[in-house]
Amino acid sequence: MFIIGSHLSSAKGFLHMGKEAVQIGANTFQFFTRNPRGSRAKKLDEEDVRVFLDFARKASVPVVLAHAPYTLNPCSKEEKTREFARMTLQDDLNRMEYLPGNLYNFHPGSHTGQGVERGIELIAKLLNEILWREQKTTVLLETMAGKGTEVGSRFEELRMILDRVHCRDKMGICLDTCHVYDAGYDIVNGLDEVLEEFDRVIGLENLKAIHLNDSKNPIASHKDRHEKIGKGSIGEKAFEKIVNHPALRGLPFYLETPNELEGYAGEISMLKGFVRS
Ligand code: FE
Ligand code: FE
Ligand code: ZN
Repeated sequence: MFIIGSHLSSAKGFLHMGKEAVQIGANTFQFFTRNPRGSRAKKLDEEDVRVFLDFARKASVPVVLAHAPYTLNPCSKEEKTREFARMTLQDDLNRMEYLPGNLYNFHPGSHTGQGVERGIELIAKLLNEILWREQKTTVLLETMAGKGTEVGSRFEELRMILDRVHCRDKMGICLDTCHVYDAGYDIVNGLDEVLEEFDRVIGLENLKAIHLNDSKNPIASHKDRHEKIGKGSIGEKAFEKIVNHPALRGLPFYLETPNELEGYAGEISMLKGFVRS
């Protein structure tokens, strides 16, 4: 089964997102758990969640991906910034228990001058404070572009975080094609080699989701500016290989391209057309 979807606005609730996904030809979606820039989360509407879960079962939506606000910084040098990240992530994970068996993705953060090692230590420490044995959500670290002091643009850094987390089986990785390309991994000319490196350093069994984005910038630019599929430096051909790669088979793919619903529908249809059964 090819699992494909896009980022959707969560403003109107889960059932609305489920219907929107189906409307654009998707069978999954990503959403922000709260305003990506702000901190406030609406109270979870349990009835909406109940109706959505029923809808998802009937419409064969096998999984959804929640994305933490990207302004959180779990490895800031400021203690109150880290504490805010901890509280927000913890609150999100508690809410995710209403949708058991799904995915929750977050950006590892920026070490703000303390150095990568200290950043890794702080991220792992925070995860060890909030993860619990019985939780039903898999928490994903996203591969980053390496903008500023971002942690997680090298596979080795993500591996070091995973190695330090006690609830290791609750963790995984979300690979963002724009981010890894901007970080310097050549998924255009050497997709096999990049995935082999991922396997060697982290292990492909830890890869749980893919963000499909083209990039506005060249390889190793460390910029993180997403482009529409086929309109950027990664290009259509590379995406055709990505959605057909045996190592990625069965993973959920999420578009975070600069599009409205109609644009996402077009990209989903194009990507479905690429998939060889
Ligand atoms: Fe992200
Ligand atoms: Fe992403
Ligand atoms: Zn990005």
